Amino acid sequence: MKCDVLTLFPDILNAYINESIIKRAREKNLIDIRLYNIRDFTSDSYRTVDDYPFGGGAGMVFKPEPIFRAVDFLRGDGEPRRVILLSPQGRPFNQLAAEAYSREKQRFVFICGRYEGIDERVKTLIDEEVSIGDYVLTGGELAALVIIDAVTRLIPGVLGDERSIEDESFSWGLLDYPDYTRPREFRGLNVPDVLVSGNHKEIKLWRRKQALKKTMALRPDLIEKIELTVLDKKILSDIASEEDISDDID
Ligand code: SAM
Repeated sequence: MKCDVLTLFPDILNAYINESIIKRAREKNLIDIRLYNIRDFTSDSYRTVDDYPFGGGAGMVFKPEPIFRAVDFLRGDGEPRRVILLSPQGRPFNQLAAEAYSREKQRFVFICGRYEGIDERVKTLIDEEVSIGDYVLTGGELAALVIIDAVTRLIPGVLGDERSIEDESFSWGLLDYPDYTRPREFRGLNVPDVLVSGNHKEIKLWRRKQALKKTMALRPDLIEKIELTVLDKKILSDIASEEDISDDID
Protein backbone atom coordinates (compact mmCIF):
# COMPACT_ATOMS: atom_id res chain seq x y z
CA MET A 1 0.00 0.00 0.00
CA LYS A 2 1.28 3.42 -0.97
CA CYS A 3 -0.53 6.45 0.37
CA ASP A 4 -0.35 10.18 0.90
CA VAL A 5 -2.35 11.56 3.80
CA LEU A 6 -3.55 15.16 3.73
CA THR A 7 -4.19 16.37 7.26
CA LEU A 8 -3.97 19.37 9.54
CA PHE A 9 -2.53 17.15 12.27
CA PRO A 10 0.31 14.97 10.89
CA ASP A 11 1.55 14.28 14.43
CA ILE A 12 -1.60 12.29 15.21
CA LEU A 13 -0.71 9.91 12.39
CA ASN A 14 3.03 10.06 13.01
CA ALA A 15 2.60 8.65 16.49
CA TYR A 16 0.75 5.59 15.22
CA ILE A 17 2.69 4.79 12.06
CA ASN A 18 5.98 4.84 13.95
CA GLU A 19 5.06 1.98 16.26
CA SER A 20 4.70 -1.80 16.09
CA ILE A 21 3.55 -3.57 12.91
CA ILE A 22 3.07 -0.44 10.77
CA LYS A 23 6.54 0.79 11.71
CA ARG A 24 8.12 -2.55 10.76
CA ALA A 25 6.15 -2.72 7.49
CA ARG A 26 7.45 0.76 6.60
CA GLU A 27 11.00 -0.21 7.47
CA LYS A 28 10.72 -3.25 5.19
CA ASN A 29 9.29 -1.02 2.41
CA LEU A 30 6.14 -3.13 2.31
CA ILE A 31 4.10 0.07 2.67
CA ASP A 32 4.87 3.69 1.91
CA ILE A 33 3.04 6.40 3.89
CA ARG A 34 3.72 10.09 3.37
CA LEU A 35 2.08 12.76 5.49
CA TYR A 36 1.33 16.29 4.24
CA ASN A 37 0.11 19.21 6.30
CA ILE A 38 -2.74 20.88 4.38
CA ARG A 39 -1.75 24.19 6.00
CA ASP A 40 1.41 24.11 3.88
CA PHE A 41 -0.81 24.56 0.84
CA THR A 42 -2.42 27.84 1.99
CA SER A 43 -1.49 31.12 0.35
CA ASP A 44 -2.18 33.75 3.04
CA SER A 45 0.10 34.76 5.90
CA TYR A 46 -2.36 33.36 8.49
CA ARG A 47 -2.31 29.95 6.74
CA THR A 48 -6.11 29.92 6.84
CA VAL A 49 -7.84 26.63 6.12
CA ASP A 50 -11.41 27.33 7.31
CA ASP A 51 -14.12 29.92 6.85
CA TYR A 52 -17.73 30.65 7.78
CA PRO A 53 -20.45 28.68 5.99
CA PHE A 54 -22.39 30.48 3.27
CA GLY A 55 -26.03 30.69 4.38
CA GLY A 56 -25.05 30.76 8.06
CA GLY A 57 -25.13 27.99 10.61
CA ALA A 58 -22.91 26.52 13.29
CA GLY A 59 -19.23 25.72 12.87
CA MET A 60 -16.62 26.41 10.24
CA VAL A 61 -16.09 24.86 6.83
CA PHE A 62 -12.82 23.52 5.39
CA LYS A 63 -11.87 25.80 2.50
CA PRO A 64 -11.46 24.18 -0.93
CA GLU A 65 -8.31 25.98 -2.14
CA PRO A 66 -5.64 24.34 0.08
CA ILE A 67 -7.07 20.88 -0.58
CA PHE A 68 -7.16 21.42 -4.36
CA ARG A 69 -3.62 22.80 -4.24
CA ALA A 70 -2.38 19.83 -2.21
CA VAL A 71 -3.95 17.27 -4.58
CA ASP A 72 -2.63 19.17 -7.64
CA PHE A 73 0.83 19.12 -6.05
CA LEU A 74 0.68 15.36 -5.45
CA ARG A 75 -0.63 14.65 -8.94
CA GLY A 76 2.22 16.73 -10.34
CA ASP A 77 4.59 13.73 -10.28
CA GLY A 78 2.36 11.86 -12.74
CA GLU A 79 1.91 8.76 -10.55
CA PRO A 80 -1.72 7.51 -10.74
CA ARG A 81 -3.60 8.15 -7.52
CA ARG A 82 -6.93 7.12 -6.04
CA VAL A 83 -8.22 10.05 -3.98
CA ILE A 84 -10.36 9.18 -0.99
CA LEU A 85 -12.25 11.64 1.16
CA LEU A 86 -12.82 10.37 4.69
CA SER A 87 -16.40 11.21 5.56
CA PRO A 88 -19.24 9.83 7.68
CA GLN A 89 -21.36 10.09 4.52
CA GLY A 90 -19.14 7.73 2.53
CA ARG A 91 -19.30 4.07 1.56
CA PRO A 92 -18.85 1.96 4.69
CA PHE A 93 -15.32 0.53 5.02
CA ASN A 94 -15.21 -3.18 5.86
CA GLN A 95 -12.94 -6.22 5.53
CA LEU A 96 -13.84 -6.74 1.86
CA ALA A 97 -12.83 -3.15 1.10
CA ALA A 98 -9.60 -3.66 3.10
CA GLU A 99 -8.80 -6.73 0.98
CA ALA A 100 -9.47 -4.82 -2.25
CA TYR A 101 -7.32 -1.89 -1.09
CA SER A 102 -4.48 -4.25 -0.16
CA ARG A 103 -4.34 -5.35 -3.82
CA GLU A 104 -4.56 -1.80 -5.20
CA LYS A 105 -1.51 -0.77 -7.23
CA GLN A 106 -2.30 2.98 -7.39
CA ARG A 107 -1.20 5.35 -4.61
CA PHE A 108 -4.00 6.39 -2.31
CA VAL A 109 -4.57 9.95 -1.20
CA PHE A 110 -6.56 10.19 2.03
CA ILE A 111 -8.09 13.59 2.72
CA CYS A 112 -8.78 14.08 6.42
CA GLY A 113 -11.57 16.56 7.02
CA ARG A 114 -12.04 18.72 10.10
CA TYR A 115 -14.56 21.32 11.28
CA GLU A 116 -18.26 21.11 10.48
CA GLY A 117 -17.35 19.70 7.07
CA ILE A 118 -15.53 20.29 3.82
CA ASP A 119 -16.55 22.62 1.00
CA GLU A 120 -18.73 20.46 -1.26
CA ARG A 121 -16.66 21.35 -4.35
CA VAL A 122 -13.87 19.11 -3.02
CA LYS A 123 -16.10 16.21 -4.13
CA THR A 124 -15.14 17.00 -7.76
CA LEU A 125 -11.55 16.05 -6.87
CA ILE A 126 -12.14 12.68 -5.35
CA ASP A 127 -12.65 9.13 -6.56
CA GLU A 128 -14.42 7.84 -3.48
CA GLU A 129 -15.94 8.95 -0.17
CA VAL A 130 -15.33 6.43 2.62
CA SER A 131 -16.76 6.13 6.12
CA ILE A 132 -15.41 3.95 8.93
CA GLY A 133 -18.79 3.74 10.69
CA ASP A 134 -22.08 5.37 11.48
CA TYR A 135 -20.82 7.91 13.99
CA VAL A 136 -19.21 11.33 13.66
CA LEU A 137 -15.54 11.84 14.53
CA THR A 138 -13.84 15.18 15.09
CA GLY A 139 -11.57 14.63 12.11
CA GLY A 140 -10.57 12.14 9.42
CA GLU A 141 -7.19 11.23 10.98
CA LEU A 142 -8.48 8.26 12.98
CA ALA A 143 -10.43 7.07 9.94
CA ALA A 144 -7.27 7.21 7.78
CA LEU A 145 -5.38 5.25 10.44
CA VAL A 146 -8.11 2.63 10.71
CA ILE A 147 -7.95 2.05 6.95
CA ILE A 148 -4.14 2.06 6.82
CA ASP A 149 -3.97 -0.40 9.72
CA ALA A 150 -6.62 -2.81 8.38
CA VAL A 151 -5.02 -2.80 4.90
CA THR A 152 -1.40 -3.07 6.05
CA ARG A 153 -1.90 -6.30 7.97
CA LEU A 154 -3.27 -7.93 4.79
CA ILE A 155 -0.13 -7.19 2.78
CA PRO A 156 2.00 -10.31 2.30
CA GLY A 157 5.10 -10.23 4.50
CA VAL A 158 3.70 -7.79 7.06
CA LEU A 159 2.57 -10.33 9.67
CA GLY A 160 4.95 -13.04 10.81
CA ASP A 161 2.53 -15.85 10.01
CA GLU A 162 0.11 -15.38 7.10
CA ARG A 163 -2.29 -17.87 8.69
CA SER A 164 -3.18 -15.17 11.26
CA ILE A 165 -5.11 -13.39 8.51
CA GLU A 166 -6.86 -16.48 7.15
CA ASP A 167 -8.40 -17.36 10.51
CA GLU A 168 -9.51 -13.88 11.55
CA SER A 169 -12.99 -12.48 12.02
CA PHE A 170 -14.69 -11.60 8.73
CA SER A 171 -12.01 -13.29 6.61
CA TRP A 172 -14.39 -16.17 5.93
CA GLY A 173 -17.49 -14.13 6.69
CA LEU A 174 -17.71 -15.29 10.32
CA LEU A 175 -16.41 -14.04 13.64
CA ASP A 176 -13.18 -15.63 14.82
CA TYR A 177 -13.22 -18.75 17.03
CA PRO A 178 -12.16 -18.41 20.71
CA ASP A 179 -8.42 -18.43 21.45
CA TYR A 180 -6.63 -19.75 24.55
CA THR A 181 -3.01 -19.76 25.72
CA ARG A 182 -1.16 -20.95 28.84
CA PRO A 183 -1.90 -21.57 31.67
CA ARG A 184 -4.21 -24.49 30.92
CA GLU A 185 -6.17 -23.79 34.11
CA PHE A 186 -6.66 -20.22 35.35
CA ARG A 187 -8.84 -19.24 38.30
CA GLY A 188 -10.86 -22.41 37.85
CA LEU A 189 -11.35 -21.78 34.13
CA ASN A 190 -10.08 -24.56 31.88
CA VAL A 191 -8.92 -24.64 28.30
CA PRO A 192 -11.26 -26.93 26.27
CA ASP A 193 -9.79 -30.47 26.18
CA VAL A 194 -9.99 -30.71 22.39
CA LEU A 195 -7.39 -27.92 21.98
CA VAL A 196 -4.78 -29.92 23.86
CA SER A 197 -5.76 -33.27 22.30
CA GLY A 198 -3.33 -32.96 19.39
CA ASN A 199 -6.14 -34.11 17.05
CA HIS A 200 -5.98 -31.48 14.31
CA LYS A 201 -9.12 -32.65 12.53
CA GLU A 202 -11.14 -32.39 15.76
CA ILE A 203 -9.58 -28.99 16.57
CA LYS A 204 -10.52 -27.66 13.12
CA LEU A 205 -14.09 -28.92 13.51
CA TRP A 206 -14.39 -27.47 17.04
CA ARG A 207 -13.12 -24.07 15.86
CA ARG A 208 -15.55 -23.97 12.93
CA LYS A 209 -18.39 -24.88 15.28
CA GLN A 210 -17.40 -22.21 17.80
CA ALA A 211 -17.09 -19.58 15.04
CA LEU A 212 -20.55 -20.45 13.73
CA LYS A 213 -22.00 -20.48 17.25
CA LYS A 214 -20.46 -17.12 18.15
CA THR A 215 -21.55 -15.53 14.89
CA MET A 216 -25.10 -16.88 15.31
CA ALA A 217 -25.24 -15.39 18.82
CA LEU A 218 -23.54 -12.03 18.19
CA ARG A 219 -23.90 -11.28 14.47
CA PRO A 220 -26.66 -13.39 12.88
CA ASP A 221 -26.70 -10.90 9.97
CA LEU A 222 -23.28 -12.24 8.89
CA ILE A 223 -24.53 -15.84 8.67
CA GLU A 224 -27.21 -14.73 6.21
CA LYS A 225 -24.54 -13.28 3.91
CA ILE A 226 -22.22 -16.28 3.59
CA GLU A 227 -22.54 -19.43 1.56
CA LEU A 228 -22.72 -22.23 4.11
CA THR A 229 -21.05 -25.54 3.30
CA VAL A 230 -22.83 -28.85 3.85
CA LEU A 231 -20.70 -29.27 6.99
CA ASP A 232 -21.67 -25.77 8.25
CA LYS A 233 -25.36 -26.63 7.83
CA LYS A 234 -24.86 -29.88 9.75
CA ILE A 235 -22.97 -28.04 12.53
CA LEU A 236 -25.70 -25.39 12.74
CA SER A 237 -28.41 -28.02 12.96
CA ASP A 238 -26.39 -29.79 15.72
CA ILE A 239 -26.09 -26.46 17.58
CA ALA A 240 -29.85 -25.90 17.24
CA SER A 241 -30.68 -29.37 18.57
CA GLU A 242 -28.19 -28.98 21.47
CA GLU A 243 -30.02 -25.77 22.36
CA ASP A 244 -33.40 -27.54 22.08
CA ILE A 245 -32.17 -30.21 24.49
CA SER A 246 -30.89 -27.64 26.99
CA ASP A 247 -34.26 -25.80 26.74
CA ASP A 248 -36.00 -29.07 27.65
CA ILE A 249 -33.68 -29.56 30.64
CA ASP A 250 -34.50 -26.00 31.83
N1 SAM B 1 -20.79 17.65 9.43
C1 SAM B 1 -20.24 16.46 8.87
C2 SAM B 1 -21.37 15.47 8.62
O1 SAM B 1 -22.30 15.45 9.41
O2 SAM B 1 -21.26 14.67 7.68
C3 SAM B 1 -19.23 15.81 9.83
C4 SAM B 1 -17.93 16.52 9.91
S1 SAM B 1 -16.81 15.76 11.03
C5 SAM B 1 -17.06 16.69 12.49
C6 SAM B 1 -15.25 16.32 10.52
C7 SAM B 1 -14.46 15.33 9.65
O3 SAM B 1 -14.22 14.14 10.36
C8 SAM B 1 -15.12 14.89 8.36
O4 SAM B 1 -14.94 15.86 7.33
C9 SAM B 1 -14.41 13.60 8.06
O5 SAM B 1 -13.20 13.79 7.37
C10 SAM B 1 -14.12 13.05 9.44
N2 SAM B 1 -15.05 12.02 9.87
C11 SAM B 1 -15.98 12.13 10.84
N3 SAM B 1 -16.65 10.99 11.01
C12 SAM B 1 -16.15 10.10 10.13
C13 SAM B 1 -16.45 8.75 9.81
N4 SAM B 1 -17.41 8.08 10.44
N5 SAM B 1 -15.72 8.15 8.84
C14 SAM B 1 -14.75 8.81 8.18
N6 SAM B 1 -14.42 10.10 8.44
C15 SAM B 1 -15.11 10.75 9.39
